Amino acid sequence: MNEVKEPKKPLLYYYGIILLALMLINFLAMPYMNRRQIQEVDYNTFISMTENQEISRVQIQDNQILFTDKEETMIYRTGLMDDPGLTDRLYASGADFGSEIVEETSPFATFLLSWVLPVVIFYLIGQYFMRRMTKKMGGGNSMMFGMGKSNAKVYVKSSEGIKFSDVAGEDEAKENLTEIVEYLHNPDKYKEIGASMPKGILLVGPPGTGKTMLAKAVAGEANVPFFSMSGSEFVEMFVGMGASKVRDLFKQAKEKAPCIVFIDEIDAIGKKRDGQLGGNDEREQTLNQLLTEMDGFEGNTGVIILAATNRPESLDPALTRPGRFDRRVPVELPDLKGREDILRVHAKKIRISDNIDFNKVARMASGASGAELANIVNEAALRAVRDGRSFASQEDLEESIEVVIAGYQKKNAILTNKEKLVVSYHEIGHALVAAMQSHSAPVQKITIIPRTSGALGYTMQVEEGNHYLMSKEELENRIATITGGRAAEEVVFDSVTTGASNDIEQATKLARAMITRYGMSEDFDMVALETVTNQYLGGDASLACSAETAAEIDRKVVELVRAQHEKAIRIIRENRAKLDELAKYLYEQETITGDEFMKILEAK
Ligand code: ADP
Repeated sequence: MNEVKEPKKPLLYYYGIILLALMLINFLAMPYMNRRQIQEVDYNTFISMTENQEISRVQIQDNQILFTDKEETMIYRTGLMDDPGLTDRLYASGADFGSEIVEETSPFATFLLSWVLPVVIFYLIGQYFMRRMTKKMGGGNSMMFGMGKSNAKVYVKSSEGIKFSDVAGEDEAKENLTEIVEYLHNPDKYKEIGASMPKGILLVGPPGTGKTMLAKAVAGEANVPFFSMSGSEFVEMFVGMGASKVRDLFKQAKEKAPCIVFIDEIDAIGKKRDGQLGGNDEREQTLNQLLTEMDGFEGNTGVIILAATNRPESLDPALTRPGRFDRRVPVELPDLKGREDILRVHAKKIRISDNIDFNKVARMASGASGAELANIVNEAALRAVRDGRSFASQEDLEESIEVVIAGYQKKNAILTNKEKLVVSYHEIGHALVAAMQSHSAPVQKITIIPRTSGALGYTMQVEEGNHYLMSKEELENRIATITGGRAAEEVVFDSVTTGASNDIEQATKLARAMITRYGMSEDFDMVALETVTNQYLGGDASLACSAETAAEIDRKVVELVRAQHEKAIRIIRENRAKLDELAKYLYEQETITGDEFMKILEAK
């Protein structure tokens, strides 16, 4: 641990306290201890002891007389008197005048008491505080300088570990990782031909798609130890600690090779080093150490590093270059089939009725991640228990989708009748505009039961299937659909409400993306005016154009949204009768399914 930089401030602080304590003990405690060794006697006793020749040594000081008995077991003290014959009498008694009488504690004990004891006391106090501090910071180490030790959790070979079969969907990712398992099983096969395994593999994808699970599954399949640590755990309060943790982790891993080292949220340490003032020294040192360690071991030591992140674009290029994390495995949101498989895997863990239509549930939960699907199954089981049933049903699953996505139903609805009517028209407005453009059922279901998430109504969209390209017309139609809710309010009530704020946001985002990123406006041709910075976490974009162009973009966005809004109003006006009929149905029933919707719409 000698490379670890000592934390300067706390140590200085401790030295200061120790010095102060020593001085205090020397000034206050020592004289007190000396005094205890000395017995106070009166002058009479002194005279009689002199006469009885019971004194061994004597010392006459300025204001007192110190003397010892013959056995030197005790020091006595008495006051000074005007006693002219004293010297003669003492001489006659055979007392020794020469030596100095001081306290009788041994020099060793004095040293112990005045120097060693305080140091020990304050070391212990220091230890206590450091331990508390380390605990607070999440490290579990007890030694002050043990802070640089890695606290990676190790899952050593276990027969009931996670296997690939527990991870549903994600077939491409699994296929990619199977090679690693193969290598860990039989490294010689690869060595013979001279192939070396990638040292690091980066799992990238949105949160909750099973990246951690996949890493565990690789270890489970290969039956090797699995070291797991989160990127943020490396970053410590003191510069250098994280680097030392990295060293320690790799040391442990090499001892246990073949093994898997998994670093979750690697962006916490692997962010681009930008060299700006006020940069994070600790993080950069940790990253440098990680880079060095990855270079340091040969390709075939049997240590494979898996790392997960949902912000791949923010990683330092040095980290992703060949020789380090040279393979990137995308772990995307599951498609319909994937969702169905994930539901089935998790449904095995709960008691569930036999006639579940997993495909329908998967279709309803479009866009859900693996973690959300696991949550949906669990919510269904909880709901069954609440209702006193011993197994979960199809209805439980369907209701829990809404719970997971939109929150629980608000029991004591606080909507006035007018509000309820507005919400009905708003939701039907969206669906009607969508249906008139696509000529098919636009929704699975609409409900206007308020949810705890704050949504007053809730629309479950139809699964669009695996759809990777969208045309300009489709995008425009979508904007029209989004504006359809507000359009219905305008047409029917001739007033507008705050209910459309989310719609406005979405429509603007889409229109802006069409112009700045998809090259769908004639004026700007195929010029990228915006770059996406956070693909997996909401997809924030930053403008990359001049101020004049930005103003022009704003104008175009307004134009685009306005045109679609007008189209939506036109569609609503043309179908006013159907709108009223559908909204009335929703208002009364509070729920309408896609089939019911189409039946009413298509009825002559
Ligand atoms: P990530 O690391 O990508 O954020 P996790 O691997 O921690 O996600 O997944 C969280 C939970 O979601 C898992 O414990 C599991 O229950 C569930 N899950 C996610 N993806 C899948 C999947 N493909 N198959 C089965 N369960 C999954």
